[in-house]
Formats: sequence, structure tokens, C-alpha cells
Amino acid sequence: MDQMERIIIHTEGLTKCYGEKTAVSELNLDIRKGEIFGLLGPNGAGKTTTILMLLGLTEPTSGTASINGRDCTRDPIGIKTMVGYLPDQMGFYADMTGRENLRFTGRLNGLKGTLLEERIDSLLERVRMTEAADKKTGTYSRGMKQRLGIADVLMKDPQVVIMDEPTLGIDPEGMRELTDLIRRLSVEDGRTILISSHQLYQVQQICDRVGLFVEGKLIACGKIEELAEQVQQEGNYVLETAAVPDDGGFKALLNDLGNVRQVERQGDVYVVRSRNDVRRELLRRSLDQGYTLSHLRLRGGDLDEIYRRYFEKSDEKAGKSNEKSGKSGAAGGRLAALRGRKNDKQERASGDL
Ligand code: ATP
Repeated sequence: MDQMERIIIHTEGLTKCYGEKTAVSELNLDIRKGEIFGLLGPNGAGKTTTILMLLGLTEPTSGTASINGRDCTRDPIGIKTMVGYLPDQMGFYADMTGRENLRFTGRLNGLKGTLLEERIDSLLERVRMTEAADKKTGTYSRGMKQRLGIADVLMKDPQVVIMDEPTLGIDPEGMRELTDLIRRLSVEDGRTILISSHQLYQVQQICDRVGLFVEGKLIACGKIEELAEQVQQEGNYVLETAAVPDDGGFKALLNDLGNVRQVERQGDVYVVRSRNDVRRELLRRSLDQGYTLSHLRLRGGDLDEIYRRYFEKSDEKAGKSNEKSGKSGAAGGRLAALRGRKNDKQERASGDL
């Protein structure tokens, strides 16, 4: 099998219950060597619990997890040698410099002498922290701590790096650096990266594949383009458009297009949901009726939109089974709450869940 195709993280029926609560349910996941995989979901979806089981820090209730053929539960020490973990808050010693912190970690991992110092220098260089290396970490920004955190994780040269919410609180400039750094860990070093996040937009820029987690269940998994295609094949097209003049007639024109399910105003644009691609028809009718399109974009390659559709689908299913059992649509309420929250956040253009 091709080296890049080799499965390195494998879970089968992985389940964790806390009393009555199922935090992770029957998770079957395969992540390939060198891949950047995003574990995505809102708070409480089960991402951290999954990571804890992969690190061998929490025992599954049932099912198995392995990394590079080693059982995560039965061989936690073996796992520790292969896997580096970057928590969302790195616990550096604030009164020690970046270099001293790395030295401390290196020694814990059995490194010493020239080998240790050379590795520290090269990692500091790699994460672009050479200049700040001799300043106390208490004075570092979040982005700097994050970069030093990556150097810290790389001290033991792990094959797999697991990162919990690495993009939280990073400014756009820092994001570019971080994205670039994470990409290089995969492309240049062949390391496998697992990123847990609820920040869709940021993760979309980094990951090769994503898994969408909702209430402990993996509801979809694949390349972002594949998930987008699937959503569209199911007859869910979402189009953004705007026209001059921006009057009621244009909205009426949109509502009148064949197979349109919904037309909604969002800021300066209309969002049109339809069962097929109505762009051609829209162009023709706009021309006929004297409108000039100032904006036209088919949404879908957008993880945010994909996630929204998958939520709708899982809620539709839940709605159906609730109808049968006479329960109220709790999941529908959850989606509505999520949408409300997302709208607030969209204003800040964050794309969070
Ligand atoms: P977040 O982004 O908030 O960390 P998450 O996706 O990582 O969310 P988990 O922390 O894995 O989610 O939690 C999944 C579910 O399991 C939640 O409902 C949580 O309340 C519950 N849970 C997690 N740890 C425990 C625990 N030690 N005891 C009881 N319930 C727990």
C-alpha cells in the first residue's frame, strides 16, 4: 500500500459513556499517515473525549482505538512516544524563557548535550521564535505560545500530532503562520495531524479531510469538496445574489425561479435555496427584466454551509422519529439556537459553531 494511504489512526465502535450520557458513540474512524484531519463539532460534541481516548488517558466504555497498530488503552506509554499533544492552553513555566521551557521538555524526553541544544535551535527557527527564545514565556502573546507549543510537541519528534483548538484567539496574521506551519508538518515531515475545533472557517483552510461530530456521533466524514458535492447532489443548492436596482421586483423574480425553496435577505445579498442550479435561469430573467447582477456566488464549497446542511439532515431525521414517538423536536430547537448563535458570529465573520 502507498505510504500516504497507510492508516495510522484507527477506531472501531469507540464509545464512551459517563453514566447515562454517551459522550462518544460507536466511532469508526480511519486517518491516513501524513493527513491533516479536522475533528469538527460544537461544544460538547465529544471531540475532547475522543482525543483523551486516543491518548490513552480515558478508557473507552466499549470499542477500540489504535495508533500505528498500538492499542491506545493497553499501551499508553507506546502511544506517548509516538503522539504529541498540543492542548488549547499550553502550560509553560511563565518565569522561564522559551528556550528553557523547550530544554525542560527535551530532558524529560531523554535528550541531552549537543543533540538537545541543536534540536532546540532548529525547532525555534522552524516556528520562527528564535528572536523571542530568551524572553520569559509569561510575556508571550497567544500566537507566540502556540508556536512555542508546536516546537515543544516536536521535541520528541512524534509521528502524530493532536491539537486541541489550535486556532482559537489567533489573529489573521498569526493564522497564516500557523496554517503554513501545520501544513509543513504534514507535507515536509509526513506527520499525521489531528485538529479538534469548532472554528469551521479556520479549519477549512488547513484540513485535508474533516469529520463532523454532533452529540457524540460522526454524522459525516470526507474531503470538504466531497461533502459539498454530496450536499448538492441531494438537491440543496444555495446561491448568493444581488442586483441593481435592488428593489422588490428582484426579490419577486428570485421567488419565481423554478425549484426555489426559499429566498432570504442576508445583509446586502439575497440567499436563494433551491433544488437545482438556477444560475442560468437567473441570468436570463435578470437580463429580460432589466436587472444587472452585481453579485452571484454558489455557496457549498463552504464548510459552514455543509455543516448547516448536515445539521438540518440529522435534525430532519430526529424530527421524523420524534413525530413518531410524539416527542417535541429538541434537535430542531438546537439547530435554531445554533443558527441564532451563528448569525451573531457571522457578523464577526468568524465562522464558528
Ligand atoms: P468542548 O469543545 O466544549 O470541549 P467537546 O466536543 O470536546 O466539547 P467533550 O468535552 O468530549 O466535548 O464532551 C462530550 C460530552 O460528554 C459533553 O456532554 C460533556 O458534558 C460530557 N462529559 C465530558 N467529560 C465528562 C466527565 N468527566 N464526566 C461527565 N460528563 C462528561
